[in-house]
Amino acid sequence: MTKINIRGIYFDNIDMHEALVLAENAMTGETIKTVFTPNAEIAQLAAEQKEIKNLLNRADILLPDGAGVVLASKILKTPLKEKVAGVEFGENILALAAEKGYPVYFLGGKPTVAELAAQKMKEKYPALSIVGMHDGYFLKNGAENDAIIRNINESGAKILFVCLGAPAQEQWIDANKNRFVSVRLVMGLGGSLDVYAGTVRRAPKIFIRMHLEWFYRLCKEPRRIGRMMKLPKYIIGTVKDSRR
Ligand code: UDP
Repeated sequence: MTKINIRGIYFDNIDMHEALVLAENAMTGETIKTVFTPNAEIAQLAAEQKEIKNLLNRADILLPDGAGVVLASKILKTPLKEKVAGVEFGENILALAAEKGYPVYFLGGKPTVAELAAQKMKEKYPALSIVGMHDGYFLKNGAENDAIIRNINESGAKILFVCLGAPAQEQWIDANKNRFVSVRLVMGLGGSLDVYAGTVRRAPKIFIRMHLEWFYRLCKEPRRIGRMMKLPKYIIGTVKDSRR
């Protein structure tokens, strides 16, 4: 498997199927594997802040979750195979967990979102075992954080979903990944639990096909405009880089 350097971030050049194979291999490994799924907003943040870039590059598996990142890879003439959306990857992992009996823990979202996501996903994948969950509004260090780590370890989870928004989830995973006992796969998956719970809807397929999922999200949540301005900045920066 090859990594492709897109403006300082080393993305895995793999499609969804290959990403799932890597994830499945992680389940039988000796050590924990981390998965981050940066989109163009976070990639731009990484272009601006070295510590975010280094943080992202410490992931074992880096998936391009955004049309913007794939476009940048084409502009730089080192095209990535495809966008691998974190929310879809996460659901495929749930299907795999149900099939193979891997216990799952959901961390993140507003109170009740993880419960609702667990309920909906169990309806869809009856064999799925969700062994624990916690909302994402807790102090990210100190006693409260320690209690959550203990709870995850006591649950025996092998797969951990961390949905705290970026880059908080990547920072949390990086800071805590060596404290897990049974977890073999930990993933930063943004607002995925909201989608599984049904509290946030993903864009209709036509928007996804036309690479306009970002536009749908912007219309639904106009307050995202500030962070979304990073997308044009990212593309302009990429064009400048490609001319150098
Ligand atoms: N969130 C959380 N804890 C926090 C801040 C946010 O659990 O301290 C959750 C929030 O409820 C939402 C997710 O993180 O479910 C962020 O979703 P978003 O779609 O903004 O993800 P991003 O685009 O940042 O990856």
